[in-house]
Amino acid sequence: MNKKRLGIVALLLMVAMVVAGCGQTKQTTKGIQVVSSLDFYGEAAQAVLGKHGQVTSIINSPSLDPHSYEPTTQDAKKVAQADVVIENGLGYDQWLSKVAASSDSNQQTMITVNKLMKRTDGDNEHLWYDLETMPTLTKQLITRFSKIDPAHKADFQKNGQAYLKKLAGLKTQLAGLKAQAKGQKVAVSEPVFDYALKEMGYQVANQHFAKAIEDGTDPSPQDIDAMRQLIKKHQIAFLVVNKQEESRTIKEMHQLATKEKVPVVQVTETLPAKQTYLTWMQQQFDAVGKAQNVK
Ligand SMILES: [Zn+2]
Repeated sequence: MNKKRLGIVALLLMVAMVVAGCGQTKQTTKGIQVVSSLDFYGEAAQAVLGKHGQVTSIINSPSLDPHSYEPTTQDAKKVAQADVVIENGLGYDQWLSKVAASSDSNQQTMITVNKLMKRTDGDNEHLWYDLETMPTLTKQLITRFSKIDPAHKADFQKNGQAYLKKLAGLKTQLAGLKAQAKGQKVAVSEPVFDYALKEMGYQVANQHFAKAIEDGTDPSPQDIDAMRQLIKKHQIAFLVVNKQEESRTIKEMHQLATKEKVPVVQVTETLPAKQTYLTWMQQQFDAVGKAQNVK
C-alpha cells in the first residue's frame, strides 16, 4: 500500500472509531471518571473501581498544600468531565466545590466527606485521621458507582469489600495502642492527628497552642510557657509534630522534647510520596507504639 492510501485508510478508521464511540455510553468506553481533591480519597475510589474507571487526584504530592491550592484550567477540565467528585469539605478544599459549581454537568455526583461523617463547621477538618471515614466513604462509593454503572455492580462490591478488609487492619492496630494509652495526656504541634489520638484514648493537653499554629498565628507567651512545662515536667506521654509544618516555635519544642527524653511522634498532614493510605497510617501508628515503649 502506498503512503497516500495508507493515510486514507487510517483516516477512515479514525472516523469509524469516533462514530462507534459516539453511540456508546461513557461507562463502556472509558469507565467512570472520578476527581478527588485528596489522593487518599482517590485511592479508595480507584480500589472500588478497579478497571472500570479512572481517578484523578488533584492533591497528589506532599509538596502541594491543600489549604492554599489554586486549581489550574487542567483541573477544571477534569472536574467538568467527572461523573463523581470527592471533596473533604469543612473549608479544607473549597476550591474544588467552586470549580465543580462552575461546571454545569447535571449528571455529576458530588460526595462531600464531612457530610458523610456528619461533621459540621467548627469540627476538626482532618477527617481522614478518623478511622471511620475511609470505610464510610468506600461503602458510599460502592453504592454510587453501582448506580452509575449497574453492569459492574458485582465487581464494585468485590473490590470494595477487599479494600474494606485492608482498612479493618488499621482498627486492629489502633485497638492495640488504645490498651496502652490509658487516658494519658499528649501535646501536639497542630490538631492534624487528633481524631486518631482521641480514638486511642489520649487527651490533647495543649489545644489552644495547637489551634494557633494551625491558624498560622503565633501562640501566646502563656501558651508557649505552658507547653514547655508539659515537656519539662514530663506531663505528656509524647509530643506529636506535623513534620510538614515545623515553624521556629515547633522546632524549639521538638528540641526541648528530645533533650528531656520525651518521645516525639512525627506525622504528616498529607500523604507522603510512594505511600498508600494504609502504609501511611500503619507507619504513624507504629511510631505511636514505639513512643509507648520508651521507658
Ligand atoms: Zn490542616
